Amino acid sequence: VPRAVKPLLVPPPALPPGSTVLAADLGASNVRTALVDAAGVIAHRYATHTDPADPVGSLLACLRRTADAARTAGAGPVGVAVAALGPLDLTVGALERESTLLPGTELVAITGPVAAATGLPVVLERDTVVAALGEAGYGAARGVADFLYLTVSTGIGGAVVCGGRVLTGAHGLAGEVGHFPVDLAGPACGCGLTGCLEVLAAGSGIAAAGGQDARAVTAAAAAGEPAAVAVLQRARAAFAAALVGLVNAYDPALVVVGGSIARGQGDLLLGPAREAVRRHAYGRAARSVPVVPAALGDDAGLAGGAPLAAARLQP
Ligand SMILES: [Zn+2]
Repeated sequence: VPRAVKPLLVPPPALPPGSTVLAADLGASNVRTALVDAAGVIAHRYATHTDPADPVGSLLACLRRTADAARTAGAGPVGVAVAALGPLDLTVGALERESTLLPGTELVAITGPVAAATGLPVVLERDTVVAALGEAGYGAARGVADFLYLTVSTGIGGAVVCGGRVLTGAHGLAGEVGHFPVDLAGPACGCGLTGCLEVLAAGSGIAAAGGQDARAVTAAAAAGEPAAVAVLQRARAAFAAALVGLVNAYDPALVVVGGSIARGQGDLLLGPAREAVRRHAYGRAARSVPVVPAALGDDAGLAGGAPLAAARLQP
């Protein structure tokens, strides 16, 4: 099978000292852009809501503001690194709108419009892969050759780093763990299956089950409201069960968990996950695998743009 894109290795390569990249993180709810330097330092940040009818329009509007601020500051970025929610078609640089979070059927070009708008070379990669590179370069996974990166936000995604290499799979989808089936008797997921990890534990699933947005459900659970407590208990149990399965499948040395919904719950989410791994992972060594929060938080997907550009833009 020919590979249209270069493999991504860990530890990730660095941009030459002093150089910068325009970084963008296109999510289902928000777009964020910034200028990132070779050390992962972030400047000129902008953010906006993602228009589900025109996600690339939202991306370009936000990116222009960062590009203008960078130009005013005298920066000459070497390229644009776009992290976007999957599934992506990396061979043509496009978002597949069959994504359960941005419904539709067509391919939406990203690389071409961003190159046209900026006049710079563009690299596109799945948001969780870019975040994993960020954590590997500057965050919790520095020096670790085998780790899982999971993000729990509006949706759930992930990346698998195995033997110093980011796994891609045959179609660039390796590590897309959101549609890992946890409970086939569970609620219907947007992908057509039932009881996926995402529909049970992501912000979108928590909101659907709780009848209000995920933050409000979390607050209600903290106040002891029984229905909200039940929704979050189910979410945390689903996450813990999926994590045991992933640890068993990939034998990581470390699990890094990012995303706004994970951060909002903190140890209420990670505590049961750690306990499940400690009790149920297969093999004595696997039961001691650390499960830690992302060190870069929401910035992982922006910071990772620098090593992504270093890996894909340099010959
Ligand atoms: Zn699903």
